[in-house]
Amino acid sequence: MTRRVVVVGGGNAALCAALSARECGAQVTLLERAPFELRGGNTRFTAGAMRAVYEGVDDLVRLMPDLTASEIERTDFSSYSSASFFDDLGRVTQYRCDPALAERLVSDSYATLRWMQSHGVRFLPLYGRQSFNVDGRVRFWGGLTIEAWGGGPGLIDSLTAAAERSGVALHYGTRAVALTMRSGRVAGVRARRGDHEESIDADVVILAAGGFEANPEWRARYLGPGWDLARVRGTRFNTGDGIRMALDAGAAARGHWSGCHAVGWDANAPEFGDLAVGDGFQKHSYPFGIMVNARGQRFVDEGADFRNYTYAKYGREILLQPGQIAWQIFDAKAASLLRDEYRIRQVSRVTADTIDALSRKIDGIDASELTATVRAFNASVDQSTAFDPTRKDGRATRGLALPKSNWANPLDTPPFEAYAVTCGITFTFGGLHVDADARVISEDGDAIPGLFAAGELVGGLFYFNYPGGTGLTSGAVFGRQAGIGAARER
Ligand SMILES: Cc1cc2nc3c(=O)[nH]c(=O)nc-3n(C[C@H](O)[C@H](O)[C@H](O)COP(=O)(O)OP(=O)(O)OC[C@H]3O[C@@H](n4cnc5c(N)ncnc54)[C@H](O)[C@@H]3O)c2cc1C
Repeated sequence: MTRRVVVVGGGNAALCAALSARECGAQVTLLERAPFELRGGNTRFTAGAMRAVYEGVDDLVRLMPDLTASEIERTDFSSYSSASFFDDLGRVTQYRCDPALAERLVSDSYATLRWMQSHGVRFLPLYGRQSFNVDGRVRFWGGLTIEAWGGGPGLIDSLTAAAERSGVALHYGTRAVALTMRSGRVAGVRARRGDHEESIDADVVILAAGGFEANPEWRARYLGPGWDLARVRGTRFNTGDGIRMALDAGAAARGHWSGCHAVGWDANAPEFGDLAVGDGFQKHSYPFGIMVNARGQRFVDEGADFRNYTYAKYGREILLQPGQIAWQIFDAKAASLLRDEYRIRQVSRVTADTIDALSRKIDGIDASELTATVRAFNASVDQSTAFDPTRKDGRATRGLALPKSNWANPLDTPPFEAYAVTCGITFTFGGLHVDADARVISEDGDAIPGLFAAGELVGGLFYFNYPGGTGLTSGAVFGRQAGIGAARER
């Protein structure tokens, strides 16, 4: 008998789950809480960067057949091995990452992107954000090389088109509110559309409704005081519904419930993401300058590691500063290294020809302390090591209580620029206990019959920090698994 599968959510994880279940022969209904214009969850706000294992350029050519001979000729793509992906996951999560989930994520990463490609998703190299020109060659760095064509919006469009082609029934503006249970197994969902509530029967439900980042009450409750004040980088619809529904049905909570992905985000960005700006409010070029708080003092090692491995935890550090605000300061030497997000129309920037003048122009900062901070920083840079943005160059400060470990350059070349940032939350790390087949595990340790989950609401993968580009890959890998499991589970 054909299996009836209901997928809750409308982002990357949900669409991959729906496509996969459909491909395995199930009848699939997808419920997206957002109206059609706002569909696509956090996925739609992304740049579409996806971290995956590749052994070398041949793997990339298979994934991106549009790569030209001249692109291949002038680019050093290097490789990204399974061992490197494991190392990165382990290191940034302080070795708490669930080994079974990590194994599935890493070992299926490339095959899952190829599977997406077979459904019409196109990929290309992430030239703009992950490569630098070195001695006439384009060199990739940080293990993140692939992006979906058209970024997040392109990814949602191509997955939605594939889902429609394959016969998935998509319902927008439909919010799942509870799981229905029969004899210990999931039997469907209760869903609300406007003021109408209905029950939808299903053999299996796949939850892919995101984390609780857009719920200020849960943020304060689980992440801690002050988190209610963070700006939300993406969708307003990820308020923890999927997690709550599963916990109510006996699922076990898992992972780093007081942890989240949060970044430096323009201080004047709105409360929720703006689809017209996408991820343009982020400000990720701090490794090439310094970051100071309202006291005029530095508070993180801006060059501790590649941006990929620090940006997701530095939002928290900004939230902890007075007024939840900080300024990123650059001189003209960094201008060509600043990512395109520094050039959006809405940017909060001040410029001046001296550090003294810049300090006086920044609203709310201790100007004399900032001038002293820059003077001490400049004097401490050991310039005997060459600057190289494509590797951890070891060009560091010497003798400062808080060092800058790489890419340290004196701020000495006008014009000087300061960008105001606050904390922007991306997604929460805590969520549901699932196994490597995306089955939701109960508090008693058994799989809950008829229940699968994928994407942001899975707990146990990320702790403290996160390797950039892993969220979409995780949603795709476990979404695809959930679809396979849902179609086959008896
Ligand atoms: C600005 C920004 C940039 C990012 N850049 C990247 C990047 O380049 N690479 C990367 O890997 N990750 C990136 N991320 C993280 C990435 O967005 C997430 O990891 C990923 O999109 C999560 O996919 P998902 O399908 O789990 O959740 P989402 O895409 O958020 O989808 C969740 C869906 O569930 C729906 N929903 C919620 N509640 C209900 C309900 N009760 N009933 C029905 N539907 C419901 C929502 O409307 C939404 O459509 C970025 C995030 C943001 C915000």
